[in-house]
Amino acid sequence: MSIEVLYSIAILLMVPAFIFVAISQSKVHSTINQYSKYPSNINKPAHQVIADVLNAEIGTGKVNIRIGNSDHYNPKKKEIVLTKKVYESTSIAAIGIALHEAGHALQDAKGYKPMKIRQAIAPIVSFGASFVWVFFIIGTALLVASYFAGAIMLYISIGLYALTTLFYLITYPVEKDASRRALAIAKQQQIFTDDELLGAEVVLRSAARTYLAALVMSMVELFRFILLALLYIKRD
Ligand SMILES: [Zn+2]
Repeated sequence: MSIEVLYSIAILLMVPAFIFVAISQSKVHSTINQYSKYPSNINKPAHQVIADVLNAEIGTGKVNIRIGNSDHYNPKKKEIVLTKKVYESTSIAAIGIALHEAGHALQDAKGYKPMKIRQAIAPIVSFGASFVWVFFIIGTALLVASYFAGAIMLYISIGLYALTTLFYLITYPVEKDASRRALAIAKQQQIFTDDELLGAEVVLRSAARTYLAALVMSMVELFRFILLALLYIKRD
């Protein structure tokens, strides 16, 4: 099969990948909305639930919990940031999300390797993402003057592009593991009733699917980018 044909296939593949991303994102929104309506029996706000969990699991005051613009864990600051909606809520969805972030804090405290790897490559990945098109454009320009130097630049741009996919490839299991830890603790500490636990599982599973969709999209984009670069390299 020629590179031209493969390139067309890569472009066609973007359609189902994009649909997968769109569906999983709308699904996670609707699932969170749905389970935000159900208060849990524990009747404690999400931030309090995870503060108690973390105190029991890794000791008092090890992780700070505050309100911010997005739900995430910051391993550098040892801090869980929750949106106001999640922070104060007693709903199954909010507690599920907060427990997931607590899951990241536990990964960090227990020295979970994939999370460390993700942390380590994050700055290289963002460097790669910023410079990939610089290398690509210089590479294609150089092909005219010097084939060898141009091809090298294009191969470097492929490598930089692949770093982003690698990042998604590591992110997905890290996210799944955080949710797995969250649900295990919810079970063990009897935070939820059986029905609530099922609800929290649905919320966290749909959140994980968005990371899977992002990974698939990134793989298709990488495939397309490699072929685009090869089209230029082989043209001369
Ligand atoms: Zn996460």
